[in-house]
Amino acid sequence: MPAAPVERLRVGVLASQGDFAAHLDLLAGLGAEAVAARVPAELAGLDALVIPGGESTTISKAIERDGLEEPIRAHFDAGRPILGTCAGMIVCDRDHLGLVDAVARRNAFGRQLQSFEADLELEPEAGIGPDPIRAAFIRAPWIEEHGGAVEVLARWEGRPVAIRQGNVLLCSFHPEIAGEQRLHALLMAMATAARRRGAEAVSG
Ligand code: GLN
Repeated sequence: MPAAPVERLRVGVLASQGDFAAHLDLLAGLGAEAVAARVPAELAGLDALVIPGGESTTISKAIERDGLEEPIRAHFDAGRPILGTCAGMIVCDRDHLGLVDAVARRNAFGRQLQSFEADLELEPEAGIGPDPIRAAFIRAPWIEEHGGAVEVLARWEGRPVAIRQGNVLLCSFHPEIAGEQRLHALLMAMATAARRRGAEAVSG
């Protein structure tokens, strides 16, 4: 009997506001079924979710206005991975959705450094290999404070700018602008692992 075809990963990008289109293109390029998610139904049944950069207050308001908090939480509770970039990092922090035990500080790099690009080395436990990431920082936050369950995957000037707690991966910068694909690839690998866990749970 031929093997059952492997279903493509369905990865949603929260599309209420911000630079969601670049993420959709990148995910499609990596072979995912990439879907723009603006309403609760579009957040159901996703293997992974990206919360993009933009304006964190606007995105937070849209989440509340459009009833998206509950489906995001259901996705999180099901152990499915989330990647938050820049404003998306802020939206996931302890003071907002509370998906990680960390607090992001908005616009933390100050006036001179409002926007810059850097080659950023990630810790080996990030699992994306030794080559630095090309990171675009745009009025970026940093992690001001975090609990022991949070892994710091990268720092810039001593400040945590990429962290992971369980299935939530957050970065201060925009990987998609510089065409950096490895964080999205990592998200998809986490989604594949989550799917496998789900299948095992079903089959006992
Ligand atoms: N400074 C923005 C905020 O606080 C984030 C900027 C970005 O996502 N590029 O929401």
